[in-house]
Amino acid sequence: MLSPLDYFFGLFSLDIGIDLGTANTLVSVRGKGIVINEPSFVAIEKKTGRPIEVGTRAKEMWNKNPKEILIVRPVRDGVIHDYEVTERMLQYLINKAHEQSWVPIPRPRVVVGIPSGVTEIEKRAVYDAALSAGAREVFLIEEPVAAAIGAGLPVQETRGSMVVDIGGGTTEVAIFSLGGIVISRSIRVAGDEMDEDIVQYMRAKHNMMIGEPTAQGIKEQYASAYPLPQERLFPVKGRNLMTGLPAVIDVSTVEVRDAVSGSVSIIIDTVKDALDDTPPELVGDLMESGICLAGGGGLLRGLAERMTEEVNIRTWVAEDPLTCVARGAGRVLEDYNNLRRLLVGLERGSTRH
Ligand code: ADP
Ligand code: MG
Repeated sequence: MLSPLDYFFGLFSLDIGIDLGTANTLVSVRGKGIVINEPSFVAIEKKTGRPIEVGTRAKEMWNKNPKEILIVRPVRDGVIHDYEVTERMLQYLINKAHEQSWVPIPRPRVVVGIPSGVTEIEKRAVYDAALSAGAREVFLIEEPVAAAIGAGLPVQETRGSMVVDIGGGTTEVAIFSLGGIVISRSIRVAGDEMDEDIVQYMRAKHNMMIGEPTAQGIKEQYASAYPLPQERLFPVKGRNLMTGLPAVIDVSTVEVRDAVSGSVSIIIDTVKDALDDTPPELVGDLMESGICLAGGGGLLRGLAERMTEEVNIRTWVAEDPLTCVARGAGRVLEDYNNLRRLLVGLERGSTRH
């Protein structure tokens, strides 16, 4: 239960849900929805170690940065990779969400999504970073759980449901029943890996060097997991590896599908593998309720069709898949009494739940 003091604070203070993703960091505020949505990038001045830009402006410098500036992606494979930078980033986000209020209010209560299966030390790192970044109280939730809540899946019910969250660094598969994860899988094949596939493909097949940001753009616009109604050619700019000179060539959507097909297969195999371990009654439920795709990777064209066909369970993309985790995390405090058991505890209680 909330203490009377918490209840009183709750009337005035902000409740914030944070999705600290490999690719994007989002903040949702109770009553306002998503207030911050920025790439998880920080630009650091090498000489002083001081962050000079966070988010979009730092990402714009990605692969174009002058040598005295270092571009850091502080969250790797869904886990905090650079603690200090992450703390600064959280500080920036919490302050920014907090500043948007025009009356003085207490510091916010924060729910942060963490990948399932992270170690106690990694959990503690997120917890501490959020606290020292200015949260009054910090709660942790496993990302697939938050994604499922955000996608509106009935995770509390006996009826099973399933989410596949494809982010930048990791793909997380989770099957729920009765408010808990029954089966889960986490693999380090997701959006970034597909970008890398495209870089490799361009090098091997076209002797062309392209950067990761270009590859990411190609993936988001032209990649697919299932034949498109209309395949097309599009221009790609890069550097010819033979001549060393800039070049533009035409590439087809069929080629890009081919380039990412290995990663797509790994993701689908992981889903099959999770289903293989699922009790038959629960599989029966899933045949009714389907598989929900969340995360930016869920937007890969044709992925839902391909999954439906290969797994034989209807698959659909969550509404606004990029914001599911942040919205789901934010929702927990709104319905604290019912949803608190979905939160993750830390060993040797520094949390109050
Ligand atoms: P994370 O939780 O790791 O921050 P997100 O859920 O924000 O990741 O998803 C980011 C990933 O989704 C990136 O790899 C991005 O390129 C990818 N993505 C975004 N839009 C699309 C799209 N239309 N097609 C394929 N991938 C996409
Ligand atoms: Mg994510």
